[in-house]
Amino acid sequence: MKTPSFSQRIITWYGQHGRKTLPWQLNKTPYKVWVSEIMLQQTQVATVIPYFNRFMERFPNVVALADADTDEVLHLWTGLGYYARARNLHKAAQLIRDKHNGEFPEQFDAVMALPGVGRSTAGAILSLSLGQYHPILDGNVKRVLARHAAIDGWPGQPKVEQALWQLATERSPTTEIAQYNQAMMDMGAGICTRSRPACAQCPVALDCQAQQMGKQRDYPGKKPKKAIPAKDAWLLVIRHNDDILLQKRPPAGIWGGLWCFPQYATKTVLQQAVTTLGYAPDQLEELPGFRHTFSHFHLDAQPLLLTLQSDADTIAAKLQQTAESQDAVMEAAPSLWYNLGQPSRVGLAAATERVLVGLKPSAIEE
Ligand code: SF4
Repeated sequence: MKTPSFSQRIITWYGQHGRKTLPWQLNKTPYKVWVSEIMLQQTQVATVIPYFNRFMERFPNVVALADADTDEVLHLWTGLGYYARARNLHKAAQLIRDKHNGEFPEQFDAVMALPGVGRSTAGAILSLSLGQYHPILDGNVKRVLARHAAIDGWPGQPKVEQALWQLATERSPTTEIAQYNQAMMDMGAGICTRSRPACAQCPVALDCQAQQMGKQRDYPGKKPKKAIPAKDAWLLVIRHNDDILLQKRPPAGIWGGLWCFPQYATKTVLQQAVTTLGYAPDQLEELPGFRHTFSHFHLDAQPLLLTLQSDADTIAAKLQQTAESQDAVMEAAPSLWYNLGQPSRVGLAAATERVLVGLKPSAIEE
C-alpha cells in the first residue's frame, strides 16, 4: 500500500492526538487567534493559558484593547516577558480601530502590515481562524521540517530560511490547512521537541532523514555562538512604609513603557544621588543581586534599599532634579508610589518584579 503523503499523515495524527480545546480554539476569531499567536511566540502553551483568559476577559474585542491604557495592557502582560510583543499588540489594535473600522483585517497583506506580525504569524492567524491557505514557519515547524528533510544550516541565515519556506509551501495541503498548520505546531511542541524528539510516536518517522541518520539533534543547525557583554545596573529601591518609588521607562529601549527602580550605571553615581536627597550612603542596605539576561547582553543588577522616615512627598521630584545632573539612566521619568499591599495595575519589568517579591508589606513582615 502506498504511504500517505506527509500532510495526510500529519492531519490523521492531529485527528487522534492534536489539541482542539485550547481557549483560543473555541469559538475561533481572528482576534483571539492573533492574541494567542503573539503570546505563544517565545512562551509555552501552559504558561499562556491564564494570561490569555485574563486578557480576553478584560479586552474581549480589538476595540476594547485599542482603547485601553498602555499601562493596563503591560500590567496584564507582566510575567510573560518580551514586552515589545504587548506594545505592538496595543499599537496594532489601535491601527485596526482607526484604519479598519475596528474589524480584524482578513487580507494577508493587511495582516502582515500590523506591528509585530510577520509572514508566519499572519499565515497562522488567517489559516487557523478562517481556513485560508497560507503556509506557516514558526520555530516548531522549522524544527520538524529541518529534521524531516535534513536541511543543513541555521534557519536565521536567509538561504536556509528560504529553503524551509519552500518546503513548508510544498508540503502544505490545499484542503484542511487549519488542521495541518495546527498539527505541525503541536508536533513541534509535543513530539519533535528540541532536546528529546519522541520519534517512536511520530507520524512521519518512516521517511524522516534526521531520524534515519540518528542525527535528530543536529537539525536545525545552531546559531553561531557569540559572547554577549555584561553591564552593571545599580537600582535604587526607595521605600516609605509600604510604598516603593518606581519610575516609568521611556517607550523605546529595554523595558520600554514599564515601571522600574531609578537605575544608575555605577554605585558612586547612585550614592551621589542619595546624598543629594539628604541621606547618607551608609543608610543604604544591600539587597540580593542578580543577573538578568537579554538577547544581546547580561545585566548584573544590584539593588540598594533606602528606607525613608518622612519626606516621601518631595523625594520623587528631588530625585528627578538630581537625575539630570547625576547621569541616571532615567531622567525626568514619570514616577509612582507602588504599594506592596495594594499593587497598582501597571506593567513591571522582570527585574523590578523580582525585587518587589522580596519586599514584604509590613503587615506580614516577621
Ligand atoms: S522522526 Fe523524530 S526527528 Fe523526525 S520529525 Fe519525527 S520526531 Fe522529529
